[in-house]
Amino acid sequence: MDLIRSGCWEADGEYGIPASLCYCGRRVVVHTCRTDLNSGRRFFTCKNSEEGGVHVWKWWDDVVMEEFNIVKVRLDEAADKIQNLKRLVEYEAKLKELELVAKRDVKE
Ligand SMILES: [Zn+2]
Repeated sequence: MDLIRSGCWEADGEYGIPASLCYCGRRVVVHTCRTDLNSGRRFFTCKNSEEGGVHVWKWWDDVVMEEFNIVKVRLDEAADKIQNLKRLVEYEAKLKELELVAKRDVKE
């Protein structure tokens, strides 16, 4: 299963770093929270978010963890591909070896 390209993992702004434009069309920016509860905590949003409606609004640290998960999935997929390529190279080397043996046996 390809989680990275499955739609919920990227490009729609729902997971990982939000798209550069909010749903409303404004640019997404990083703000710093000033409330007592989350003072100093950063978040992604757009300048229209206080006017109501649907806008990007995500904690920056949550986004970073989501991005780590995306990178981990991509690394796992890349490791699998590398492993498969190694097996293919080994298989091709064995195949060539067998072809040489077969040709030698035919000549003898
Ligand atoms: Zn917006």
